[in-house]
Amino acid sequence: MKTITTITELRAALAEYRRAGKTVGLVPTMGYLHVGHMELVRRARGQNDVVVASIFVNPLQFGPNEDLSKYPRDLARDQAMLEEGGVDFLFSPGVSDMYPRPMETVVDVPKLGSELEGSVRPGHFAGVATVVTKLFNIVQPDRAYFGEKDFQQLQIIRRMVDDLAQPVEIIGVPTVREADGLACSSRNVYLSAAEREAAAIVPKALAEAERLVASGITDAVEVERAVTAFLSAEPLARPEVVALRDPGTLETIQEIGDKPVLLLLLFVRFGTTKLLDNRVIAAKSAHFAKVA
Ligand code: AMP
Repeated sequence: MKTITTITELRAALAEYRRAGKTVGLVPTMGYLHVGHMELVRRARGQNDVVVASIFVNPLQFGPNEDLSKYPRDLARDQAMLEEGGVDFLFSPGVSDMYPRPMETVVDVPKLGSELEGSVRPGHFAGVATVVTKLFNIVQPDRAYFGEKDFQQLQIIRRMVDDLAQPVEIIGVPTVREADGLACSSRNVYLSAAEREAAAIVPKALAEAERLVASGITDAVEVERAVTAFLSAEPLARPEVVALRDPGTLETIQEIGDKPVLLLLLFVRFGTTKLLDNRVIAAKSAHFAKVA
């Protein structure tokens, strides 16, 4: 694996593969890798001739009250993992390589980007859409890989690619979990031992939501309230958002059974750490299975 830090050098390195008709897969990350990221790499390795992973902690997607400098980093360890995963090129630019002067151009997906996480992190998803577009322009991948764990991010990128006819196929990868069901995340390192143990309530709450829907509850607010109460039973957990939404539009749902699938999104705070998780629930089939 070759580590490259400048746009010019990466473009030059990829040009010869592109001329030879090779396919390129891109796995964008902010580093501090775990097995979830490596699943994206594994998918990319299986589907493309050349695999590029990027590590860039993107200032554009951090708000004024979010500490960019505190984001965990370990480049040497990340390099070893990516090498092991069969990555050909690691692109790890500095901020001055990606943004040599303040960005004047912004890619925004304002409706999807202001829902849910976007409502508490204004500008976050515009920062994501802008950096992902820039990475697409630099790498020009045939396919790019994103985790379903960040479901809202995945939907925003799909919509952006569709709206702007960006010539890349977006591949969503199912969430990789720890043994107790907690979604792997770079943020998990911030949890104390007690918080880490308590965090197992998050995947259990998703299962509880599915159980409630399968039992025939059709009022979305009732499910949201029950899941919030379920999470609140864990003293260390502070549920911030529990929301049943349409998975495509992220719009609220009143009546379960109207739509083929639902997305339950959870943002739960443990101490200072906010955990995200979600599950797509097959509402209609679950409901009709009960009725039949
Ligand atoms: P990040 O470094 O947190 O920006 O994540 C980079 C990519 O890895 C994003 O597309 C995430 O959705 C994806 N990702 C993070 N955690 C997981 C996980 N547990 N399973 C699958 N993909 C993940």
